[in-house]
Amino acid sequence: MMDELSTGKKYKCVFFDLDHTLWDYETNCRETLYDLYSAYQLDKRNIPDGQSLYEQFKKVNTTLWDLYDRQLITQDVIRKERFKQVLDHFGAYEETLSNQLSDDYLEACPKKPNLMPYAEDVLHYLSKKYQLTIITNGFEKIQHVKLASGKISSYFKHIITSQKAGHRKPSPHIFEYAVHAHNIQCCDAIMIGDNLLTDIQGARGCTIDTVFYNPERIPHQSKTTYEIGCLSELLNIL
Ligand SMILES: [Mg+2]
Repeated sequence: MMDELSTGKKYKCVFFDLDHTLWDYETNCRETLYDLYSAYQLDKRNIPDGQSLYEQFKKVNTTLWDLYDRQLITQDVIRKERFKQVLDHFGAYEETLSNQLSDDYLEACPKKPNLMPYAEDVLHYLSKKYQLTIITNGFEKIQHVKLASGKISSYFKHIITSQKAGHRKPSPHIFEYAVHAHNIQCCDAIMIGDNLLTDIQGARGCTIDTVFYNPERIPHQSKTTYEIGCLSELLNIL
């Protein structure tokens, strides 16, 4: 459900989420798991193919990240649990294998370069009109590697991770941290992200306008200033 639009509103800063919004988490994750499937010869471990590995990982990972976003588990639990649960599903769990896959995944995945459609064009366009900043829940080192892999680091004035800010989305404190970093008011910024809880509800909690990026057109009842299915639609809004 979209708010009543305030036409002609001028923003000074555009805040972006990173994973699933600019950096194509799904594609990068799938490619990494296909690589791991071959490297570890997982066909010999009762896992039929790379796609099955990816689909099971996606299921487990989404559930764990959702628990993390609701502050029910720590990031450490995600790291320890996800390959254990995936291997368990195929009856292929071994502690050493699980730990090796987890380490290799964390090392390799952020180095994948795929971005969401039109991400670079949109950043190029917006960077001429606004100051751009990333607000992301994640580890400083890993998120910087992803931005470098996607060759988009130079578009951003600030890269604010939850690790750096000491708070994570949807906490208003991480958005306040970003607003202070730019020396602006909340009404001068707009937040673009794919997650209704962390990005949209979080920014609204700080009275920052929002763009819900919803490429799969998931039905929802949340309030957002704008909603788009493709990043290229930002050119009509901003
Ligand atoms: Mg995201």
